[in-house]
Amino acid sequence: MSGHVINRADQELPQSRYDIVVIGGGVLGLAAAFYLRKFAPARRVLVVEQGGIPSEEGETHFSPALHHHFFPDEGDRRRARWWSAVLADFQHESGVSVALKNVFSRVRYVTSEPSGVEIARADPAAFRLAKAAEFRGTMVEKFVTFDDDAWLAVDPDGGYGNAEAAALHYGHGAVALGADLCLNARAAIDRSGEVRLDRLTINNRMQIETARQTRVQTGMLILAGGAATGALIEHQLGELNPFQRYYAQFPRIDHAPGFSLAEDGSLDCPVVSTGDFTFRPHLDGALVIPSALPPDPDGYKPTGGRLMGVNVGLRKELITRLVNRMESIPAFTLPTLNLGKTCGNLRGAWEALTPARRPEFRRVPDLDAYALVGGSHGFSLGPAVALELAARLAGRDDLPWD
Ligand SMILES: Cc1cc2nc3c(=O)[nH]c(=O)nc-3n(C[C@H](O)[C@H](O)[C@H](O)COP(=O)(O)OP(=O)(O)OC[C@H]3O[C@@H](n4cnc5c(N)ncnc54)[C@H](O)[C@@H]3O)c2cc1C
Repeated sequence: MSGHVINRADQELPQSRYDIVVIGGGVLGLAAAFYLRKFAPARRVLVVEQGGIPSEEGETHFSPALHHHFFPDEGDRRRARWWSAVLADFQHESGVSVALKNVFSRVRYVTSEPSGVEIARADPAAFRLAKAAEFRGTMVEKFVTFDDDAWLAVDPDGGYGNAEAAALHYGHGAVALGADLCLNARAAIDRSGEVRLDRLTINNRMQIETARQTRVQTGMLILAGGAATGALIEHQLGELNPFQRYYAQFPRIDHAPGFSLAEDGSLDCPVVSTGDFTFRPHLDGALVIPSALPPDPDGYKPTGGRLMGVNVGLRKELITRLVNRMESIPAFTLPTLNLGKTCGNLRGAWEALTPARRPEFRRVPDLDAYALVGGSHGFSLGPAVALELAARLAGRDDLPWD
């Protein structure tokens, strides 16, 4: 039987006790709920999300969702392959059809990174090594400068996805399998095994306020609050927080003369990675995706910097990196490079950083709770890690990629 979606503050929850409460309705929390119901249909599961589905607050909303298979760890490559198969037919995986259909654009992923080239060399059946000369005269040349003899690694199954579409599939799929979903409810936790829900509403001054509070008993908690998970652990449970975060930003290169477009009007270009910057088509232009910065200190407030005496939205550390690469990345000299006038009008979001810089779940000490955090590869590898957590809680050890 389907679960319930509770989205108004005056709606009662169908139950006051759940076996598992998942805090956070981003792609990882929803994937965990989906696989929990799939593997252990007798367990009562509730997902609590402070916004809607897809939420406009978390990492999933802002993620450029790059996906490739250049992972040094063989197990991660298998997880990424499994995810590629899911992305190719999400309706089959989730059992539901959702309105956002463009869940993955398989445009190829080209990297000049030595580690990627090494992985491609070791596995010629999965990847292709190409002499850089092959890309002369193509869009790739706008994003990376190379000698003709240099090797580039090509992942034919790579590209970029739509993390929100994936979250929607998992969300609808979880409800179809019987999970309850409580939206517009901010969860607070302590060590009692009880979750307090601030049921949110919008007042007539268009401010979000708490309409009422609801308490839910749970046997197990999954903390999947994205970049907020560290604060949940530290401030609400008083545990040392293993997760950090930094404020990520993505400038856009708007359409420029010489940019070629595919039939659907999007930039006709694979994802191109140079290591510290990756470029992906975004409508008729490209998104610039810097690799992760070091963690920001507590209390850091995102602010823009100054470039050649002009205020821009891009933060100082990324301006420095961009200036250092101006000679080797032709697109950085285009007049259509859009760094925003202020931080607020440049696309950006808090990104969780895990200690190993890959998605993970870990037990919160002395509590029936797991933290489930994506971090930098949370789109590519996170759903597999959510599935692993669900399988562990359901007592299963057969994983679909093994
Ligand atoms: C800028 C950026 C770029 C990225 N690029 C890539 C990439 O190219 N490739 C890749 O593989 N991965 C990438 N990632 C990582 C990937 O997108 C994330 O790991 C993934 O989306 C995380 O999903 P999540 O469900 O863990 O978190 P989120 O999507 O952040 O979801 C957490 C949810 O919890 C809710 N929440 C938080 N606290 C509470 C509370 N107390 N009560 C109720 N609800 C709460 C929030 O509203 C939010 O909706 C990127 C991430 C970011 C931020």
